[in-house]
Amino acid sequence: MTGGCVFCRIVARENPADIVYEDEDVLAFTDIYPKAPVHVLIIPKRHIESLATLTPADTLVVGHCLQVARGLGERTGYAARGYRVSCNCGPEGGQVVYHLHFHFMAGRR
Ligand code: AMP
Ligand code: ZN
Repeated sequence: MTGGCVFCRIVARENPADIVYEDEDVLAFTDIYPKAPVHVLIIPKRHIESLATLTPADTLVVGHCLQVARGLGERTGYAARGYRVSCNCGPEGGQVVYHLHFHFMAGRR
C-alpha cells in the first residue's frame, strides 16, 4: 500500500492510468481532465511534494522530467509547432495534487 498519494498509487499500479511513458525514474500518463487535446502529466516516481520542497538530490530527476517532455513533443508531432510545460506550486499556484508533476499540453493555442 502506498497511502494517500494518488500519483504514488498510479506508480504502484494501485490506481488506473493511461500511461504513455515509463522508465526507471519517471512516469507519464494522460491527465484525467484534459485541458488541451494532448495533456500529459510527467512525474518522478519517487514522491516529491512540490517544487517548493525540492532538494539538491532532486535536481537530476527534474531535468529528466523535462527530457521526457521533450521526447513527448517529438512523439506527438508537436516539437516544431510547440507546446506548454508547466508546474503548479502551492495553494496560490493552483497545485491540487502534492506529488510533483509537470503538465505537458499541446494542440491548443
Ligand atoms: P495540479 O493543479 O497541477 O495539482 O494538477 C493536478 C492534475 O492532476 C489535474 O490536471 C487533474 O486533472 C489531474 N489528476 C488528478 N487525479 C488524476 C488521476 N487519477 N489520473 C490522472 N490525472 C489526474
Ligand atoms: Zn506521491
